[in-house]
Amino acid sequence: MIKYEQEKLAVVITNDSDFRELLTPGLGELGYRVTVEEYPSGALSESLDKKSAPLIIIDLDSFIKADSELFRIIQEFFTRRHQTVILAYGNEDHQFEKVSAFKPDFFLIKPLNPQLLRIQLLAADKHRLELSELIATQKKVTSYGRELSLMEQQYEEAFSRANALTVTSEISRLELDQIFKTVAGCIILIDKDNNVIRANDAVSKLTGLMSSEIQGKKCFESSLCGCCHTSECPFSRIKGGETRVEIEVQKALSNGEIAYYVITATPLRTFGPEFMGIVTSLTDITERVKAERSLMETKEALRISEEKYRQLSIVDDLTGLFNKRHLNVQLEVEILRALRHGRPLSLLLMDIDNFKHINDTFGHSQGDQVLAGLAKMVMICKRKSDMAFRYGGEELVVILPETSIGESANVAERIRRSCASLTFPVNSSERIIVTLSIGATQYVSGEDQHDFVTRADQHMYCAKKDGKNRVVCDVI
Ligand code: GH3
Ligand code: MG
Ligand code: MG
Repeated sequence: MIKYEQEKLAVVITNDSDFRELLTPGLGELGYRVTVEEYPSGALSESLDKKSAPLIIIDLDSFIKADSELFRIIQEFFTRRHQTVILAYGNEDHQFEKVSAFKPDFFLIKPLNPQLLRIQLLAADKHRLELSELIATQKKVTSYGRELSLMEQQYEEAFSRANALTVTSEISRLELDQIFKTVAGCIILIDKDNNVIRANDAVSKLTGLMSSEIQGKKCFESSLCGCCHTSECPFSRIKGGETRVEIEVQKALSNGEIAYYVITATPLRTFGPEFMGIVTSLTDITERVKAERSLMETKEALRISEEKYRQLSIVDDLTGLFNKRHLNVQLEVEILRALRHGRPLSLLLMDIDNFKHINDTFGHSQGDQVLAGLAKMVMICKRKSDMAFRYGGEELVVILPETSIGESANVAERIRRSCASLTFPVNSSERIIVTLSIGATQYVSGEDQHDFVTRADQHMYCAKKDGKNRVVCDVI
């Protein structure tokens, strides 16, 4: 049973002192604190309204006889009360029907009978108690009702929100479906545990793997990026905090072709910072790579062709030595270098002895072979840093940087001897043996290129004059 905690206050509205004195002890015995209101000293309606007393005793006789305003106030009070009300009267002028129309809880007939009063007050007190418990229960019920209606309202709101979310998520799903189907590029969604949760059909065109082969598996099982379990892995890098990763990948397809694509990975986010997975897009760059390769091949071919052309323009066809044009260029370079660093520079000029006779005897083509053979021997005998040139018909020149006349005379002698030891078979019985006359000279500071070569030429003529097959050099 619900206990309604309320002060046991009894308000007695009367001007009758006998009535009051008889009533007060009885109420006191039942534990009531009693206050008495006199009429018309206080406005009755105010007294009735303000008193939250659970027990009200109204003495009708105390009021002006047949006061219609009084009746209206009491009647109004009686329609909305939550108190135990005892109406007392004894004046016979009050018509019983009129008084009973108020429907009080109890009547007291004046003058009061003390024994009857005690029983009536006990009954009123019991009524008061039941009423207070009823009020408490009603309040609880009202409060439950309010809670229930609040919960119903919250439930309604939650339900309508859930409905709205379902509709939104369904729309999002349909939109995502649409995007996945129609987008030209490949999209792969990977969750935080490496599971491929979605891949569109475009993936298969590029990688040769059906989307069904990829979906539901771990991303590293398909190895689309080819760098699984390495520090390059886009998944690991995004998980590690990078916001965008781009890598180029190549993959051999089952038809033997190689596909090239760029993988771009970004984090898959909800509204929070939590790592949910990654969104990966693959862009086909096969054509671009092929075009770049073809361009590089073309460039390389061009470079080789240019190099070949350059070589052809400075190299003599028959001997493979540099030609006279290149000699002029190179000699100038070396003279400037020698002057700048104050270093020695030497030159050998050699002419094949009696070459006309060889041509005349064995033919021009045989002469060509001899010329080419001697050039080869010169290449073998010179040092790496030296450069050999075909200067004229059967005249060769060697530039020897960083070389004094003493050293260059040694190189010249080595060439002369090696060439003289060469034999060129003509047929089973005949062999050609050729010799060289060589002039060797060291650059003299201040002279020009022409003077430098002329001095070597003069030494070579001296060698001819002195009997050929010899080296003539500067006087050391
Ligand atoms: P020497 O130099 O000993 O005084 O006598 P030589 O017979 O060599 O006389 P010269 O230097 O005047 O003659 C050079 C000859 O070399 C003339 C020419 O036919 C020949 N000759 C020049 N260039 C070539 C060539 O490319 N091929 C061939 N087979 N012969 C050439
Ligand atoms: Mg000659
Ligand atoms: Mg000659």
